[in-house]
Amino acid sequence: MTVLKAQLGDITELNVNAIVNAANESLLGGGGVDGAIHRAAGPGLLSECRALNGCTTGQAKITQGYKLPANHVIHTVGPVWHGGNCGEAELLASCYQESLKLAARYQVKTIAFPCISTGIYGYPANQAVEVAIRSVKDFLNDQPHQMDEVIFCCFSENDYQIYLSALTT
Ligand code: ADP
Repeated sequence: MTVLKAQLGDITELNVNAIVNAANESLLGGGGVDGAIHRAAGPGLLSECRALNGCTTGQAKITQGYKLPANHVIHTVGPVWHGGNCGEAELLASCYQESLKLAARYQVKTIAFPCISTGIYGYPANQAVEVAIRSVKDFLNDQPHQMDEVIFCCFSENDYQIYLSALTT
């Protein structure tokens, strides 16, 4: 059984096999969690990202973790919230599924996700959390993997409370 849990804290400090980055299409760094990950990983991460030629929304690409405690960073590009009728939920679900597919290919056992799209990209946290939990559960039930633990790493108390109640219902 894979453990799904919410944790409050900074994703760059987590000692897991892989952390997921809520990146933008350039994969060349940005604000929010993306900036924090690049700062903590150091310049090696940006050089590897330059060679990836970006990433489209809903897809994911993997790099090493450099100075991070995590061995890998999985970069995924969440959708910008445009009101909910522009395929946002499907694209967000795809971020989780594509990230987990890559993780499984790299034999990742422990992985942490930030609350993708809920910062600068404006996705309402309640709805994003529903999509996140459903997509992860679907993947774990339907696909081959070696995952022991999936952590939803929350940077705010508010997001943490939303995950806690969603995970217990
Ligand atoms: P997006 O552009 O996908 O909205 P953001 O980085 O703006 O990405 O926000 C995504 C989520 O990451 C938000 O919930 C934000 O609070 C959170 N976040 C920001 N910094 C960190 C961090 N160091 N660790 C974990 N989560 C973080």
